[in-house]
Amino acid sequence: MHYEFTHQQRIAYFTMEIALKSDIPTYSGGLGVLAGDVMRASADIQLPLVAVSLVSRAGYFRQEIRDGRQVEHPDMWDPAKWAFPLDAKIAVNMEGREVWVRGWLYVLTGHLGGKEPIILLDTDLDENRPEDREITHYLYGGDQVYRLKQEIVLGIGGLRMLHALGFQVRQYHMNEGHSALLALELLRRFARQENEDENLLSYDIPMVRSVCNFTTHTPIEAGHDQFPYELVQNILRDFIDFNELKAVAGEERLNMTKLALNLSDYVNGVAMKHAEISRQMYPGYHVHAVTNGVHPYTWTSDSFASLYDHHLPGWCYEPQLLVRVDQIPDEAIWRAHRASKLALIERIKTLCGKDFSAEIPIIGFARRMTAYKRPELIFSDLERIRAIARNRPFQIVMAGKAHPNDEGGKQLIEMLHVHLGNLSGTINTAFLPNYDMDLALSLVSGVDIWLNTPLRPMEASGTSGMKAAFNGVPSLSVLDGWWIEGCIEGVTGWAVGNASDQANGDDAGLLYEKLEKTVLPLYHDDRSGWITVMKNAIGKNASYFNSHRMMRRYATEAYVR
Ligand SMILES: *Cc1c(COP(=O)(O)O)cnc(C)c1O
Repeated sequence: MHYEFTHQQRIAYFTMEIALKSDIPTYSGGLGVLAGDVMRASADIQLPLVAVSLVSRAGYFRQEIRDGRQVEHPDMWDPAKWAFPLDAKIAVNMEGREVWVRGWLYVLTGHLGGKEPIILLDTDLDENRPEDREITHYLYGGDQVYRLKQEIVLGIGGLRMLHALGFQVRQYHMNEGHSALLALELLRRFARQENEDENLLSYDIPMVRSVCNFTTHTPIEAGHDQFPYELVQNILRDFIDFNELKAVAGEERLNMTKLALNLSDYVNGVAMKHAEISRQMYPGYHVHAVTNGVHPYTWTSDSFASLYDHHLPGWCYEPQLLVRVDQIPDEAIWRAHRASKLALIERIKTLCGKDFSAEIPIIGFARRMTAYKRPELIFSDLERIRAIARNRPFQIVMAGKAHPNDEGGKQLIEMLHVHLGNLSGTINTAFLPNYDMDLALSLVSGVDIWLNTPLRPMEASGTSGMKAAFNGVPSLSVLDGWWIEGCIEGVTGWAVGNASDQANGDDAGLLYEKLEKTVLPLYHDDRSGWITVMKNAIGKNASYFNSHRMMRRYATEAYVR
């Protein structure tokens, strides 16, 4: 059945989460959406990949908001509805017993007709103990032991599964450190004969490095998994020589990022600034920069897609064509935007009964709710924001999930509801529950201004602002991640503060000033000037910050070397 995928060599792309479609909850946020866009772009440009991930039967979670508090529900899905069960079955040894793993084949079919296989690993099998059956259930759930077992299934199990299915893999690509244990399986595969040469290590590290690529995604230390060796040894037993493992994964603890760095010849960060930060965090490694991009067709609203189809045919295969956006009349851009805006307004009405106006600009903010993203920044001074809105009105819509264990993030959601409530009467506000891919497209295309206020330099890249650009929506953002590269002040959008201000000092004051003196006056008083910025977001940013450019770079610089 899968011969159509095994007859040619492929790049194996390992990822803990992947956003295949809104109905399949095997993702939590940006990392998973990026993985999905990697595969969608590869399908479009006919780059042969195979993705390996976990089936996450209970998903991440479905978010309900009750009295301003996030309530989490399991988000069960049935893989049989979307994917084919594969016959192959492999085992990995944990705590001295076999844990059996099977796979589901999800065939990603792009809108240009290309196909890519996605293998979703599953331990929910009769032959496993009850606790082992749950290893692949909860995305980012459970404790450290649970996480390590998931990463064993993903890295070691995933590699064995590809082998059992007959895939011919030419290169491995680790999307973040979660899958770095695949390199341990490769070390074992490339173990040297004992006594071959007394001076050589028993594993052929250069051989492993030559087939591994690693993309690091976060400049936050806590974002990098680390496991105590006692725990690792208790689970993996004699799988690997621990003295040699410590030499490549850290002396104190098994650091998944170090392991991936030491066993990959090609390493990259996800924006220029992020690569620079990563070089500082891990001195001595050559960290390339491949700035992220988003998948054109997936992140463009219907109204803009038909506009591009008409004026710039071929944009889905070659998004650089969007540099010619000036071919499109201003009125057509405005009409396409208005269609997306009306659709969002209707959705807001359905989801929370609020009436937004199509004549007033909407500011959108949606991302993972966690401290460094500072969703509360715009509410620092409620009197000030009311005064700005009285002069030139605007509306605010927000969305985002907090990780179930991130109490700070959950409190942010609660606090946002209080602020949004306090502003109502002066400003239309809404918080839309259960941020997912589908809601993300509504938001990035339906708002007028995409707001982003992270604490520098914590935002490795960020991708939602790129999605907004595909829909002619400019960003108003702190200069961090991709926006350092994407912002041309007053041309493609606006900066809050400047990139060198490490203190992040008075970002709220700077945000109010930019909004009051520059952004809102342009929207309300100079429609043609506003549409020029919309066109620049498309022509200068969407044309560049897309997944096709990103994958063509991985293909020529990482996969073929
Ligand atoms: C794009 C997307 C993200 C990532 O957005 P950032 O700008 O990187 O914060 C997160 N969640 C969903 C559902 C998305 O579509």
